[in-house]
Amino acid sequence: MSEAMIQQTNHSVMHTYQRFPLSIAKGKGSYVWDQDGNKYLDYTSGIATCNLGHVPDSVHQKLSNQLDNLWHCSNLYEIPTQNELAALLTENSCFDRVFFCNSGAEANEAAIKFAKKYAKDKGYTERTEIVTFHQSFHGRTGSTMAATAQEKIHQGFTPLTPGFRYLTLNEDKALESVNNGTTAAVLLELIQGEGGINAVEQVWIEKLSAICKEADILLMVDEVQTGAGRTGTLFAYEQFGIEPDVMTSAKGLGSGFPIGAMLAKKECASTFSPGTHGSTFGGNPLAATAGIATIETILKQNILEQVKVNSSWLQEQLEALQAKEEVMVSVKGIGFLIGVELKEEANFFIKAFREKGILVLSAGSHVLRILPPLTTTKAELTQFIEVFKEVLVEMKGTTV
Ligand SMILES: *Cc1c(COP(=O)(O)O)cnc(C)c1O
Repeated sequence: MSEAMIQQTNHSVMHTYQRFPLSIAKGKGSYVWDQDGNKYLDYTSGIATCNLGHVPDSVHQKLSNQLDNLWHCSNLYEIPTQNELAALLTENSCFDRVFFCNSGAEANEAAIKFAKKYAKDKGYTERTEIVTFHQSFHGRTGSTMAATAQEKIHQGFTPLTPGFRYLTLNEDKALESVNNGTTAAVLLELIQGEGGINAVEQVWIEKLSAICKEADILLMVDEVQTGAGRTGTLFAYEQFGIEPDVMTSAKGLGSGFPIGAMLAKKECASTFSPGTHGSTFGGNPLAATAGIATIETILKQNILEQVKVNSSWLQEQLEALQAKEEVMVSVKGIGFLIGVELKEEANFFIKAFREKGILVLSAGSHVLRILPPLTTTKAELTQFIEVFKEVLVEMKGTTV
């Protein structure tokens, strides 16, 4: 489809996205096809959402069965599939209770409300703020946009929801000022996704966690992008030796079926009592079924081990390239949440990759974001590296 045609067919959709000139019609495994039947290796995974690849058989089968059974009933009734997903998540994490919603932003909205009420319930009347970090991304709704400490996200939308204080990731100063008497909770991504693939340092997050525990400040991790196996463990916090009080999840949790979740430890979970929060669709039978099938598949099919082995190989290959190629500044990330920091704009690379049949993303202007499905094969990864070399040659306008 030509760029002009795509513009034309899009005239009734509100122009909130700067879309790539590509119209996706079908997906299976690691691949998608455009409307003209051209095939692309999808190393965006719908932004870390189709973690098991497109239309995975195990999820497809369970969802098909559920389609014949029940689509929706309200949260005013017990929902067996929702209970089952909650049990699966709590048995495989440090959390004890789950609230279901429909997206990452909604999960973070829940966490923000949760933090406010926790402080109120405890009688911490001065604790009216939630600390978040520069370069973070927590969503596009009123409160999650305010939680997101990036100027470009706020532009045009002031006055912002009050009650957020921004500090800098991995800085000692942040540790010194986090417990200033006004902090109810800290909300952070352990690896910032949209903000450039920036991981917290081990020592720093351990200290932050200790400060929060000591002062009864809630430590809330936004695992919307890092969860559902993306980093090689079911959730990323497992790799940092910490136990947060609250975690949010979405993106990869339903393999592309919309679902979000906010999980809490039992010590604080009763903060949300009947009538304090809710959602019509949250954790409905179809969404919960997609979640069950996704988590079961990740846990039962040795996917996490596969991610560890294959992502190490990919990172080594990228680091070897980076050692030779001046345009590559650094290789960042954990598991299959990978960023390549570039001297040039990432957009040049994204276009060059697309023209060679591979889809990748950016994270900020100068970081190429690579999000393979967790199930990608060694052959596909090899193809990706070969194409990366071609793109580098093209960029220099010379042959090596
Ligand atoms: C994508 C993302 C969100 C927002 O999720 P939506 O489902 O788009 O609302 C929040 N936090 C992080 C870390 C994300 O990557």
